[in-house]
Amino acid sequence: MGYSITRRGFAKGALTALSTAALLKTTSSLAFARASGTADLVRKDLTGLSGELVLDEASRKVYADDFGKIVHLTPDAVLVPRSTDDIVKLVKLANTQGLKIGTRGMAHSMYGQAQIEDGVLVDMSAMSSLRVIDDGAIEVGGGSTWGPAVAAAAAKKRTLPVINDTFLSVGGSLSTAGFGPTTWNNGFMVDHTLELEVVTGAGDLVRCSEEQNSALFNAVLSGMGQCAIITKAVMRLVAAPTNVIYIRFFYRDDVLSAAHDLAFLAKDGRFNHLDLRSRPYPIGGLEYYVECGFFYDQSSPPPKVEELAKGLHFASQEVKTWTYEEYYRRAETCYSCLDAPKPSLYLTVPASKFDAFVGKTLNEPERAAYVAPWISAWRGNVFKRPLARVASEDLIFRTQFNRVLPNKADIPAFLAVNRSLYEEVRDLGGTRLTASAIPFTQSDWIRHYGPAWGPFEAAKKKYDPKNVLGSSSKIFAV
Ligand SMILES: Cc1cc2nc3c(=O)[nH]c(=O)nc-3n(C[C@H](O)[C@H](O)[C@H](O)COP(=O)(O)OP(=O)(O)OC[C@H]3O[C@@H](n4cnc5c(N)ncnc54)[C@H](O)[C@@H]3O)c2cc1C
Repeated sequence: MGYSITRRGFAKGALTALSTAALLKTTSSLAFARASGTADLVRKDLTGLSGELVLDEASRKVYADDFGKIVHLTPDAVLVPRSTDDIVKLVKLANTQGLKIGTRGMAHSMYGQAQIEDGVLVDMSAMSSLRVIDDGAIEVGGGSTWGPAVAAAAAKKRTLPVINDTFLSVGGSLSTAGFGPTTWNNGFMVDHTLELEVVTGAGDLVRCSEEQNSALFNAVLSGMGQCAIITKAVMRLVAAPTNVIYIRFFYRDDVLSAAHDLAFLAKDGRFNHLDLRSRPYPIGGLEYYVECGFFYDQSSPPPKVEELAKGLHFASQEVKTWTYEEYYRRAETCYSCLDAPKPSLYLTVPASKFDAFVGKTLNEPERAAYVAPWISAWRGNVFKRPLARVASEDLIFRTQFNRVLPNKADIPAFLAVNRSLYEEVRDLGGTRLTASAIPFTQSDWIRHYGPAWGPFEAAKKKYDPKNVLGSSSKIFAV
């Protein structure tokens, strides 16, 4: 179709462009003034730090990013703390000077959850520590990644009941929920957190658990950094197996057969590790596979693979026998951190609605564009933490639509698709997981948290009365 523009239209467009340019200039001068004001303030008042302040623009811009590559918010200043005292000092200053604070772990969020524009970002990466307390517990720093903790526990023949991707941070995982391949039967990582050390939004260093400051504990686990910054977490340990039979059952392009077998295995309980993934197929399209792990101790012989495969409907299989170390080290690095927009979507869908929802979504080209689904089947009775919201049914499907877009893709259009998929799932009784790329308002969050909203809001008022923490998610009024 041809496109023409009249002289009047051109003049109007030029004026609009000029005023937009003027507005952008004013906005960027304001941002510059605000950033230098914040820089002066933190430089003057945050003294005696063990960590570093990052104030120059080029270095701050590096923080305007996350895995999703959609949202880019440049912080006014960055604190890289090396002690809890550094964090306490910053939060106290924020309370007296009206600063906002965001917290960043490994920034594997999709939509700016670990960024902040008009405030100070705390980069937790140097807050790593590790202490095996005893056979039942390990203490890890809020900025640590999980890999070293899993290795230290394994050296004592212990492990975490749920292990998510080990390149993610402790604070980020526990602020979202932390799912892994044993979640189907063991719940989230937040269900195995015994105690936390946090700096509250009021600037107090507090320990909390089920028994001590439990309202704070429940508002921090899966709480998206809204009430406190996690500086340490004590995690439950259980006996580690010595070996794992690791099997991939392949279903070619038949996602529903794969998902039905996955659900069958989640109910049957013969494996410890369960997941469903997809990968590009050499002649086009996707291939689905159910990934299973049978944990055992070499002192007693494991079942035969034919026994483990009984009742499944796969086309082919691939079997490996690993030591536990080979198993937990199988994916230590994030290989998908590409420089491309990734508006991925994590949903929980009641099993009774899954076939219709996934069948419809994958058959509609607009919704299925660039999607590679990953799926889990989780027992509904294994989740205990109030803010970790999942669909309420006996069996739940985590339905993760990974999308890697070409750089020139119409990102707002994909975000609108995500929003409509979320609404559809919400109306079917499902939920989102919080790392997803979905435009969300505060009323969406209130609806998302449902009965947990009241206690969450009360904890926010008590522990972060001046609302200094976590503003970019817009969970609480900014
Ligand atoms: C490649 C990839 C793999 C993933 N694998 C998994 C997986 O196995 N399991 C899973 O559950 N999810 C997974 N996710 C989803 C999700 O991105 C992560 O759960 C989440 O990002 C946690 O890790 P992070 O350190 O990157 O957190 P960030 O993205 O840095 O932060 C997430 C949220 O936590 C807050 N936060 C971070 N640190 C702290 C702290 N110390 N105190 C308080 N608040 C804090 C941030 O402000 C933000 O709101 C994955 C995502 C990607 C891209």
